[in-house]
Amino acid sequence: MPYNKEVYSTLYYKEPGPKLDKESPFESMMERFRFSAEILKLEDGMFNYLSNPVKQVTVSIPVEMDNGRLEVFEGYRVIHTNILGPSKGGLRFAPDVNIDEVKALASWMTWKCAVVNVPFGGAKGGIRCNPRELSARELERITRRFTASMLEVFGPDLDIPAPDMGTNEHTMAWIMDTYSMHARKTVTPVVTGKPPIIGGSLGRREATGRGVVTVTLAAMNKLGISPINAKVVIQGFGNVGSISAKLMYEQGARIVGISDISGGYYNPDGIDIPSAIEYSAGNRNSLEGFTGADTVTNEELLELDCDVLIPAAKEDQISRKNAHKIKARIISEGANGPVTANADSLLEDMGVLVIPDILANAGGVTVSYFEWVQDRQGYFWTEERVNRRLNRMMRQAFQLVYDVKEQYNVTLRQAAYIYAIKKVSETLKLRGIYA
Ligand code: NAD
Repeated sequence: MPYNKEVYSTLYYKEPGPKLDKESPFESMMERFRFSAEILKLEDGMFNYLSNPVKQVTVSIPVEMDNGRLEVFEGYRVIHTNILGPSKGGLRFAPDVNIDEVKALASWMTWKCAVVNVPFGGAKGGIRCNPRELSARELERITRRFTASMLEVFGPDLDIPAPDMGTNEHTMAWIMDTYSMHARKTVTPVVTGKPPIIGGSLGRREATGRGVVTVTLAAMNKLGISPINAKVVIQGFGNVGSISAKLMYEQGARIVGISDISGGYYNPDGIDIPSAIEYSAGNRNSLEGFTGADTVTNEELLELDCDVLIPAAKEDQISRKNAHKIKARIISEGANGPVTANADSLLEDMGVLVIPDILANAGGVTVSYFEWVQDRQGYFWTEERVNRRLNRMMRQAFQLVYDVKEQYNVTLRQAAYIYAIKKVSETLKLRGIYA
């Protein structure tokens, strides 16, 4: 069996680590990686190579706080692979970030980049801090000192961070500026997710939701479901959920259910999505009190009668506990890890087509790639061009993965992993192991 338990467990179950219960998104991802590696008969050496990050860096970040006290934060950057190109992945600021979580998320990025054919490896970083308790000046000092410690790690041809939980486009601007000050020139492609005025890409904000909708429409087409009047339910009404809702609505779909942390909202005749977006924007990004639908719980929302369900809120939403109650014919994973591994086979038996996260929500990293390309060229595209190319890459990725599904007679998720693992391992074989 191409699975070296010892390496696997040393890497990912070392104490202290995140609580990885059977249904953790990372354990689910590893389960799927392992399964697809077995189908591909990946040899042990290759399996172990792809289970290990190529580089992991932990740094101490001393920072003088606003009150004059010195505090030391811990920061991490893990490069899982750089086989397809420079590594790419977000930077997370959260109180519970740790190296094991960052390692897990870095490997996730390897498979996501490979599936959508962007020439990047996978990475992730984090700083253990609570951004809500820090002033903007403190956050800036932490970010800049962390960047200074990562000068040998980051770089447009080496490793390119992006925003993630607790970081935003302003954080990226500070990283770009700090890196540039040391390089004695402006180096915009060192990070993506920057404000457009300093080298960010148009269309980045909508990219993930747009990608979700592109692959969802492709899947509907395979099943012969027309978007006109198709019943769609969307969990989560933030960046990914609200943009997916807006674009599906514009395709003529009937969005019968939406939700956010305040609860679910159901209207069998279809919700007026532009009004819901306007309502939420004027209500501190909350749907609480929205009157264009009846209220349901988030659990009930997932079980509503619909053609397409887009979980776009958080991980672990569909598990063995509720998978059998799902009525959708297609689940399109806008969020990372919304379906647990142990629900996969149940959904497969029920004939539900699940578009896996590493494909469905890869629109964000695809436009990050466009941002990097534009920065390197010093030539910026129109939003229309960004969207057109994003749609094309997402459609192509969907078709390639769909072909693998047919070829191996597996689920779309297994096909996505097979496609990604095959691509990365074949590239590694061609490059060879430098001795
Ligand atoms: P966001 O913070 O903008 O929105 C999250 C939404 O989910 C909010 O509406 C929130 O109220 C809702 N929510 C939170 N807990 C909920 C619960 N228990 N039940 C129902 N709704 C709940 O976040 P986002 O950027 O839209 O990201 C959503 C998911 O998509 C995350 O899993 C994220 O990792 C993933 N993702 C995002 C991007 C991106 O570009 N933003 C890219 C890839 C993956």
